Order: sequence, then C-alpha cells, then structure tokens
Amino acid sequence: MRINLKDAFILDRYEKEVDFRLPVAEDEELSSLASFPEEPLVQFKIRGKYGLVLCDTVIDFKYESFCCRCLTPVSGALHIENQRRFITDPLKEDEDTILIDPNFNFFPDEEAKNQIIMEFPDRFLCAEDCKGLCPICGCNRNEGVCECEEDS
Ligand SMILES: [Zn+2]
Ligand SMILES: [Zn+2]
Repeated sequence: MRINLKDAFILDRYEKEVDFRLPVAEDEELSSLASFPEEPLVQFKIRGKYGLVLCDTVIDFKYESFCCRCLTPVSGALHIENQRRFITDPLKEDEDTILIDPNFNFFPDEEAKNQIIMEFPDRFLCAEDCKGLCPICGCNRNEGVCECEEDS
C-alpha cells in the first residue's frame, strides 16, 4: 500500500482518511510478538494545511500470548492513538514525526506495523505477583505448593 502525499504538502487544504486491517499472518516480525485473533484495525487521518501535514493514528487490536513466568495463556487488547507530523527530512526525525521518502511516498501498512512493534509490551504476566513455575518439578506455583519448595 502506497499513498503519495505530495498534494498534502503543496495544496492549501488536503484531507484523506485511510482505514484498513493490517494483515499480520504473513508478517514474521508481527507474528513473533504474539498471535492476533483478528487483523489489527488501523485508521490514519491525514490533514495538510500550508505545508504542515499531520496524521492522526488510531490502531486497535487484540492479542494472545503467554505469561513469561508460568506460561499460562494471556490475552488482552491494545489501543494506540497519537498525532504525528509528516516530514521528508531525516534530520528532523523524532518521536512526533513520520518520515516519508523524498518523493512523498507514505506506506501506511509499514507505519502501522512500526507503531505496533514499538508499543507492544516486551513480556506478559498473568498477574503482577505471578509466582511462576517451580524450577525443579515444573509445577505452577500459583496453583499450589510443591515439595521442592518446602525444602529450600
Ligand atoms: Zn503467570
Ligand atoms: Zn517443585
């Protein structure tokens, strides 16, 4: 998917809305983060005015993963919402900008993917105080106390 934003930079007024579902199944980077019961819903609202081009982003998705301590399945939803400014100069890039190429080409699926990767939690816990698995017998310590724990 490619959108040329040259008009947004040169016209006095420019508005464009892009809505789509991001195909995650064939993307290795995204599928390695978690599994997605449905494709993330992405919305970009682009507004240009006198050379200032802004993008309102809203991304919603559900994920399924595992607790990093006890390996219990964990599921949840993530909502990403921000406003950023399109730029073509890599020297001006910061967290509030979206860098597009010198020919004003914007790739919405790549931007959505980058934002999901950046906002995605590094790891999941089933509960803040998850006790994890016993390193000796492998039992789930949230569900009971094992013999080996009493010895230590
Ligand atoms: Zn856990
Ligand atoms: Zn044990």
